[in-house]
Amino acid sequence: MKLIIALFMAVSLWGTDTVVKGTTKVLTFSKIPADATVRFGAKTIPILTHPRDAAKRIAFIPINYRCKTGIKTVRITYRDGVKEIDLNISNGDYPSETITVAPSKVTPNKKQRERTSREYHEAMNIYRTFSKKRYWNQPFIAPMNSHITSSFGTARMYNATLKSYHSGTDFRAPVGTPVHATNSGVVVLAKNRYYAGNSVLIDHGEGIYSCYYHLSTIHVKKGDVVKQGESLGLSGMSGRVTGPHLHYAIMLNGIQVDPLHFHTQVNRLFEDEPPKQP
Ligand SMILES: [Zn+2]
Repeated sequence: MKLIIALFMAVSLWGTDTVVKGTTKVLTFSKIPADATVRFGAKTIPILTHPRDAAKRIAFIPINYRCKTGIKTVRITYRDGVKEIDLNISNGDYPSETITVAPSKVTPNKKQRERTSREYHEAMNIYRTFSKKRYWNQPFIAPMNSHITSSFGTARMYNATLKSYHSGTDFRAPVGTPVHATNSGVVVLAKNRYYAGNSVLIDHGEGIYSCYYHLSTIHVKKGDVVKQGESLGLSGMSGRVTGPHLHYAIMLNGIQVDPLHFHTQVNRLFEDEPPKQP
């Protein structure tokens, strides 16, 4: 009974939160029944250990950039009941931009389409894999110290024909700038791909993957265990680009989310809580 009251209290503090599509909602439970499950839409959201407080649990809810706006409900189910939390999904105020690239990168031929399809399915199989082990135990860092040239979520028009959106954050980077692992993990892909160019994907465990694209050189190989800050390679301009830069992305429970917003949310879990009022 005590557990359930603590859960209700944690939940009631949130009310209806407005969450921008493409971002991450973090739920923190001071106590939650051991049999509880968290669902958001058709997805079961893993309940994870709080990185600083072993007594607490957390859940990362990725909000798909392409989801409809309006109220969406998180359902927490356990033996003695159900608790619902409404999230108000908003569009945010993402900018838009037009981009001109080689025509073959917008309208690929049959052979290229076969390749991109293969690469897409390979990546999705990786993102669908849930590693139970947590490899990270400290706040996320930036992949490089540089200006951001295009932020996540920007609506994009390629060569006036292809409508898309920017699924990561671009950092200004002359060719040859070291690219660092933003947290510890295991390299699950390190190779050249059609759109992403030379790419590295890191599994951080528990459904969190980070992605580093358009590299000129890759320093790691599949299966390598990397520590936060370790060099993964050098930035470049391989793949579908207009110039040299690093594209950095986070995939969370199979959904692309704003990587730097995700960092901020995770890193907040490491901060001291404000002292309680007497
Ligand atoms: Zn990018």
